[in-house]
Amino acid sequence: MADYRQILVAVDFSTESRVVVNKALDIARRNNAGLSLIHVVEYTGSVYAGDIPLPEDLELDQRLADQAKGQLEAMAAELGIAESARIVEIGVPKREIVRIAGEQGADLIVIGSHGRHGLQLLLGSTANGVLHLAKCDVLAVRVGT
Ligand code: AMP
Repeated sequence: MADYRQILVAVDFSTESRVVVNKALDIARRNNAGLSLIHVVEYTGSVYAGDIPLPEDLELDQRLADQAKGQLEAMAAELGIAESARIVEIGVPKREIVRIAGEQGADLIVIGSHGRHGLQLLLGSTANGVLHLAKCDVLAVRVGT
């Protein structure tokens, strides 16, 4: 296995998130690598009610981001992950995950094969998008099957 120095773990707070984070922590320990968690709050502007796009609500985005920060803090504190390694962004998940991986100089992104978007695809849409956009290695941890 390659030696990884900085790992970024994508967390969507689905029930499988722990499996993904635990796998990443294990790799981080064995490689003596740094590890950060990221959660991306999807733009409400990109949420659809049936076929109708809902108008963008920046205040709602901020409220959701604050809520996500709380959730991520609780998870990270339990796992002993430093405050500086807990990242919440607002945007399109696949883009933000890849952008932050670049900013952090991550050489591995760890992501679940599936998340809240379900099992209908061979690979979840976020996992698939990250795989296509990332400039570093991506580990899709098999979950949900
Ligand atoms: P999906 O492609 O949405 O089925 O999700 C696959 C994986 O992508 C999840 O297990 C997470 O690792 C990651 N992921 C999905 N949505 C987000 C999000 N909003 N923020 C961070 N990671 C996410």
